[in-house]
Amino acid sequence: MRIAGLGLGFFCVASVFALQHRGFVLWSLLVFHGFVWPHVARRAALACEVPFRGERLNLMADSMLGGFWVVAMQFNVLPSVLILAMLSMDNIGAGGLRLFARGVLAHVLGVLAGLVTVGFVFSPMSQMPTILACLPFLIIYPLALGFTSYRLSLKLAQRTRELEHLSRTDGLTRLWNRRHWEGMLADEFERCRANRYASCLLLIDLDHFKRINDTLGHPAGDAVLQAFADLLRSHFRAGDSIGRYGGEEFGVVLPGATLREAHTVAKVLVQRVREKTKEASAECPCTISVGIAQLTDDLPDYHTWLQEVDRSLYQAKATGRDRIVVGGLAPVQEVARG
Ligand code: GH3
Ligand code: MG
Ligand code: MG
Repeated sequence: MRIAGLGLGFFCVASVFALQHRGFVLWSLLVFHGFVWPHVARRAALACEVPFRGERLNLMADSMLGGFWVVAMQFNVLPSVLILAMLSMDNIGAGGLRLFARGVLAHVLGVLAGLVTVGFVFSPMSQMPTILACLPFLIIYPLALGFTSYRLSLKLAQRTRELEHLSRTDGLTRLWNRRHWEGMLADEFERCRANRYASCLLLIDLDHFKRINDTLGHPAGDAVLQAFADLLRSHFRAGDSIGRYGGEEFGVVLPGATLREAHTVAKVLVQRVREKTKEASAECPCTISVGIAQLTDDLPDYHTWLQEVDRSLYQAKATGRDRIVVGGLAPVQEVARG
């Protein structure tokens, strides 16, 4: 933007200088500021440890020179106002009102430097060649700035979406993390209560998972967790919410599922995992235990729904693992292996 802005600004000042028949020194300084300085400034900012800080210094140098050009143009009104307005816009865009105020100070310093070196002549009338030379700057620069801001806001929105997604997912398995999954569970609890439809909750734990870590190593354990997460993704419906509840424990909310449907789905999953453990290159070499709890009227909040399903899972573990225990409604019912 500096390369474009100062390049276009050159023609505004040059049109006045041409009419005033300015000398070699001022012309050289103008060419330097318009076409050499933007590249020097860019390199200098990029060479800084914090490029943004370097860029702020560059903006102050621009602002000072802006003040100087106003005096050198003998206060020619259109290019003077245009240059100062555009520089102020850059300063506000880069550093808010604070940088704007510093920019005003730099303008004043530039004006003083101009008065000392070039002298004071007040000739504010802008002639037609100057008006025409200012038009490209007046039109192109704000458009380019608007487009840059638009692109920046798109990038920001994209980054925000990515960060939001990252804050909701588990890094290893790419399933929902516990915090977000519990939020989804709470929402489902409220929705189900309000609309009075059936909903079930599954808690799934890998059996003797620690042994995999102990025998094959932690990376192998990670790979098993990833493979199991893939299996869960392929097994459940798109509308089911799957989350990593703990280390090797996964929760699944099945909106609209009756206890019978949830049990059938879990049974097929247990069977699929059992079959996978028998494969030579077993991606998931351990069985699973599953607790199921249906949302019933007597559950006051989603925490108790979770406690219900945890109780079922505990029963599944206590009674031998590799099985499903359905709880929730009334007495805990065990679904034995096979
Ligand atoms: P149980 O059948 O009673 O569930 O036994 P278990 O060994 O599966 O359960 P336990 O709670 O004794 O051990 C869980 C292990 O899971 C211990 C922990 O090191 C491991 N674990 C937790 N998170 C990760 C992880 O992200 N990667 C790996 N590789 N291991 C993990
Ligand atoms: Mg386990
Ligand atoms: Mg566990």
